[in-house]
Formats: sequence, structure tokens, C-alpha cells
Amino acid sequence: MPELPEVETIVRGLRACTVGRSVTGVQVLRQDVIRGYTPEFEEALTGRKVEEVLRRGKNIIIKLAGGPAMVVHLKMTGQFTCNRPEEEILKHTHLLINLSDGGQLRFRDIRRFGYVILVKPDLLAELPQLVAMGPEPLEITFESFACRFRGRRQRIKAMLLNQRVLAGLGNIYTDEALHRAGIHPETPANQLSERNLRHLFEAVREVLSEAIARRGSSVENYVDAGGAAGTFQLYHRVYRKRGQPCPLCGTPIERITVDGRGTHFCPKCQKISAGS
Ligand SMILES: [Zn+2]
Repeated sequence: MPELPEVETIVRGLRACTVGRSVTGVQVLRQDVIRGYTPEFEEALTGRKVEEVLRRGKNIIIKLAGGPAMVVHLKMTGQFTCNRPEEEILKHTHLLINLSDGGQLRFRDIRRFGYVILVKPDLLAELPQLVAMGPEPLEITFESFACRFRGRRQRIKAMLLNQRVLAGLGNIYTDEALHRAGIHPETPANQLSERNLRHLFEAVREVLSEAIARRGSSVENYVDAGGAAGTFQLYHRVYRKRGQPCPLCGTPIERITVDGRGTHFCPKCQKISAGS
């Protein structure tokens, strides 16, 4: 699933190929990827100029001048790319949006958990999936990060995955950040020392920033807005590395399940309540 660094990379690419262009045509190839689809969907977009492309958590938000905002969530296998219309339309492409400079936006999703939703601009802030979302990890202070975890009995991995606690993290970057911070993924949050929390805060920011710089991790079918794979998967230390040596200590990486999610960690570098 694309996480914060992948969605950020896509958003930056989309910004470059859409802002200032107008929508000249819309073709819906599969209506069920558009939540609450009505026949007015095409009409609501056509003729509108793309004003801004933003990211909030794992959501892509495209604002259209004088019209609705388009919120796109890629979920497991969604792709949102900027193409030339003459390029082959790959199987599982569900939406085509033509732009005034001759470009074409394409939404493609093999498993179809992803979706597109149109929202009136004044209702954007009230969209349930955005309203309940926690802060952006790259934009908060240590104190506002730490106060979300202090005194909570939930396991740290589950808390980091919870979009209401923190926006944008998924399985890849929680595993990578916990390894960098030397914290066992099953540690209850209230057992983390201030030093643990400080290390975790720094590790989350560090791993997200490095991943953005390397244009995301392509472990499933993630591609950027230009259709290119990311490279950060080459720098993963634990994610999907079961049995391979920990880059810090050489101990084989283990895989366990934490709250239903496959979790990779080093049993030597990451002990429960490493403390102080
Ligand atoms: Zn290790």
C-alpha cells in the first residue's frame, strides 16, 4: 500500500503536470471506483482548472477552481499517473481525465480498494476520513508527537498504524522506524521512556524523509505520477527481510503478527521495554 512517502511523491509529480491546466474531458471506465457516482461526475470536472494538488495522510486532494475537490485514496494497489493519451491504456484503468495541455490523468487499480470521491470545497474539511486524521508526522513537534503515546496501553506498532494517531504511516515505515529507534513493535506505548519516544520521533521523521528523497518504496505495484518505480525498497533494513541479517547486529530478522499485521523486527536490537 502506498504510504506517506509514496503518496507525497505522486502528489509532487501530479502538481507538476496538472496545476494550471484545465480538464477538457472525463471518461469513467468503471463507475464503482467513484464513491457516490452520479452521471454529473464528468460534468462537474469538465472545464475546471486544476488549482492545487495536496496530500493529507495517504490521501491525494486535487482542488479545482470554482468546482469540487477530488479526493483519491490508492489503498492497496491504486496508481494515479500522468500520461500521454497515445500511451497504451493498461488493464484495470478505471478513469481517464484529459487536460488542456494534451496530458491525461489515469486512475488504475487492480484490486479496486482505492477510490475517487468528489467533495464540495466547503465540505472538504468535514470529510470523515480527513476530519478524524491525526497530525502529519513531518510537521509536528516532539511534544505533540509524544503526548499521543504517553499513558496509552496499546502496542506501539498498532498505534503508529492508526491514522487517527498519526497520518500517513503504514506497515513499511512503522517497521523501519521501530527498528531505527530500537523499539520492539509489541511494546505497550506507556512502557516507552522519554528517550524511547525521542528516538522514535526522530526515526519516523528520518525514515519518511529518506524515503521521499528516494521517491518511495516499490514493493507491490507502486509507481510515481510518471509511472516510474521508487528506490527506497533497496534501503529497507527489516521490512520483508525475514531470515536476513540485521544490518546493525547480524541477527536474523524475524516476522511476527501484531494486531493482524505482518511485522518485521530484529529480536536483538528491538527488545520490549528497552527503556531509559
Ligand atoms: Zn539487530
